[in-house]
Amino acid sequence: MSATGVDFEINNSTNDLEVKILSNLYDMNQKTVACSLHGTQKIGLLCTHLAHSLLDQSSVGFHEYNDGDLGRPDAWCHECDAKLQKVTGDSEQEQWFLACDYKILCASCWDEAKELNTR
Ligand SMILES: [Zn+2]
Ligand SMILES: [Zn+2]
Repeated sequence: MSATGVDFEINNSTNDLEVKILSNLYDMNQKTVACSLHGTQKIGLLCTHLAHSLLDQSSVGFHEYNDGDLGRPDAWCHECDAKLQKVTGDSEQEQWFLACDYKILCASCWDEAKELNTR
């Protein structure tokens, strides 16, 4: 498996979408992303650590939560999961979500991150 072509400019170009997602998390059924590697795909959200694990090919652990309305579930690393265990209440959950600095990747890139971080 190789992900050396992962292009993070895609995230820079979708900042508006990212902002939209943060404020409109549950209304994104039709959202897709144009991935430089995989073409037009459904989206998957990865915490910033998982997103970067694709670049340096390091395993940081993998946790996911499927709320059923995305191309892929949200996923986060061990480090973020440890913080999640201390979360109580909605406002802390929101802070946690922001701290994870979720990146929008295509579903195929999400799958590569899962394979990399669960092997
Ligand atoms: Zn993380
Ligand atoms: Zn991709």
